[in-house]
Amino acid sequence: MIFIGIILGVLCGWLIGKPLLVVSKPLGTVFLTLLKMVIVPLIFSSIVTGVAGIGNTGNLGRMGGKTMLYYLTTSLLAILTGLVVVNIFKPGVGAELGLEAAPETVGAEETGLLDVFIRMIPENPVAAAVEGNILQLIFFAILFGIFITRVDQSLGGPVQVFLAGVFEVMMKITRFIIMLTPFGAFGLVGSIVAETGFAPFIPLGYYAICVLLALLIHACVSLPLLLMLVGGVSPLKHVKAMGPALLAAFSTASSSATLPLTMECAEEHAGISNRTSSFVLPLGATVNMDGTALYECVAVIFIAQYYFSHGQAVELSFVQQAVVVITALLASIGAAGIPMAGLVMMSVVLKAVGLPLEGVGLILAVDRILDMLRTTVNVWSDSCGTAIIAASEGETELKVKVG
Ligand code: ASP
Repeated sequence: MIFIGIILGVLCGWLIGKPLLVVSKPLGTVFLTLLKMVIVPLIFSSIVTGVAGIGNTGNLGRMGGKTMLYYLTTSLLAILTGLVVVNIFKPGVGAELGLEAAPETVGAEETGLLDVFIRMIPENPVAAAVEGNILQLIFFAILFGIFITRVDQSLGGPVQVFLAGVFEVMMKITRFIIMLTPFGAFGLVGSIVAETGFAPFIPLGYYAICVLLALLIHACVSLPLLLMLVGGVSPLKHVKAMGPALLAAFSTASSSATLPLTMECAEEHAGISNRTSSFVLPLGATVNMDGTALYECVAVIFIAQYYFSHGQAVELSFVQQAVVVITALLASIGAAGIPMAGLVMMSVVLKAVGLPLEGVGLILAVDRILDMLRTTVNVWSDSCGTAIIAASEGETELKVKVG
């Protein structure tokens, strides 16, 4: 369906030209506004529920610590891989993307990394939500999630259940908006073609290849090395064991929908205990998204490169690139395991460095295929984590050990 929207957009934009804008512009704007509408409540409820979930299993102590360490290390590794690839190939420099909105970063004064952290603390969390200051909101949500589990259960419990309910409702609304994507895609892609012609699709293809390359490096080099060196697990045996789950991830573009199959492959084919897999995998399906984290980083730097090379923004400084890394990490933690969640969360990263959201519309044209790929990497990383943690817990039934 999305493909049909994109193809129709391209065809109408090409054949009708500028008059199409009367229809396509409002369609695209409505779609982007709907996406923005869900961000604040979705992020808050998702992060509080996720963090409180980890806190609740705090008695699993050692395994919880190892799992968090694995999630953070691999997600950061993925982001850094993306950062290096996008800085080497620079797909956005000189690209003709036809974006109009001016970034807020023009002339932004240079601030240190410490300032970024200091500014993450909201003076007033409600104001942060109203103003859409996502970093501050995330900071408050993490604290809220941690301390929800530190108060008496009779008080903390209902708040947690309430927010879990809010999260479910927000997910439903998000799914509904995502169902409208074909119309949004028609509007956004149609407007681009009507205004700029086909020129943007060449740099977009180049950008997609950069994402693919970085995903391949992470999935075929970094994660297998970790598997072998830290877990003593054979990557080949493990990929065979997880095959059905990886294929399901690719075809559904949803880590959550794939979860039952991921658990079955981990337990039945890889011989990982239910104790480990039932802790690491469900949490990983929403919190650990290496592919999404990498994708956020490459996409945002791609857009930043475009604005910089057109003289509309200053080049992203070291500090701003660090902000991209941190927010890409947070966005991947906050992203739900459903199709296109990464695209919704991208606005968080764009906002953090003051870039306009218009770029999201453009990237949407190639998002579906990249979503399928990054979801496969997300599930692959979860499964590698389970195997490594199982091995470190001395599980003897593992069928994927080297040798
Ligand atoms: N579709 C991805 C997943 O479910 C999330 C994303 O859009 O990046 O893992």
